[in-house]
Amino acid sequence: MVIAGNWKMFKGPAETRAFLEAFEPPEGVDVVICPPTASLHEAARGPLTVYAQNAHWEPEGPYTGEVAPEMLAELGVQGTLVGHSERRQLFGETDEMVARRARAALTAGLGVIACVGETLEQRESGDMGLVLKIQVEAIAYACEGHDYAIAYEPVWAIGTGRTATPQQAQDAHAFVKGIADVPVLYGGSVKPENAEELLSQPSVDGALVGGASLEPGSFHAICEAAVRVSTP
Ligand code: PEP
Repeated sequence: MVIAGNWKMFKGPAETRAFLEAFEPPEGVDVVICPPTASLHEAARGPLTVYAQNAHWEPEGPYTGEVAPEMLAELGVQGTLVGHSERRQLFGETDEMVARRARAALTAGLGVIACVGETLEQRESGDMGLVLKIQVEAIAYACEGHDYAIAYEPVWAIGTGRTATPQQAQDAHAFVKGIADVPVLYGGSVKPENAEELLSQPSVDGALVGGASLEPGSFHAICEAAVRVSTP
C-alpha cells in the first residue's frame, strides 16, 4: 500500500530537513513525499521515496518555470505527480498535457501518480463517469506498457475537510480500474481519523494526502492505518 504526501507549495529546504528528522515511516507501507521543486534536492538526500509535483514532457527547451523529468532523475527524485487538480484548475492543464507529462516521466524512468477527479458540479450534474473516463483514458492511452498509479481525488474533497464516503471512493476506484488496471490511491481530506476506513475498501490501494502530510505526527498516523489495513 502506498501513502504519498503532497506538500503543495509548503516547506522549503529547512522545513523539509526538519520533517525528515522528525518522521520515521512505519514498516510495511510504501511512503512517498512530494515536496515543492525547491526542496527536492534536500528531500532526495533523505531516506524516503521522493516524487516531484509535476514534470514537463520535453527533456529540455524554452519552457520557463518547468522542469524536465531527466533533471528530476538526476537530482535523485524517483517519480512525479501529474495532473493534480490544482494544476488543472488553476494553471489550465488539459488532459492532453497531463497525459504527455505522464508518458515523458515514465519514459525517463520515473514513477508516476496521475491524478484524476470530478468537480462537485460535474458530480451533481451526473457527468462524473464521463469526466473520469476522459481523464483516465487519456492517461492510459499515453502510458500503455508502463507501470504507474492513478490517484482519484474528487475536487470537492481536496482541502475542504469534506471526504468522499468509503462507498463513494470504492465506487469511483472500481470505475477507474475498469478503464486502467493500475493501483488507485484515494485523495481528498484524508486524515488519521478517516484513513483506516477509506483504505479498507477493496479497490483503494493507498492514499494521496495533502494537508495531513505536512505534520509528521498526522502523516505517521495515516501510514500506521495503512499498515493495519494491509496486515492480515
Ligand atoms: C491533495 O492535495 O492531493 C489533497 C488530497 O489534499 P488534502 O488531503 O488536503 O485534501
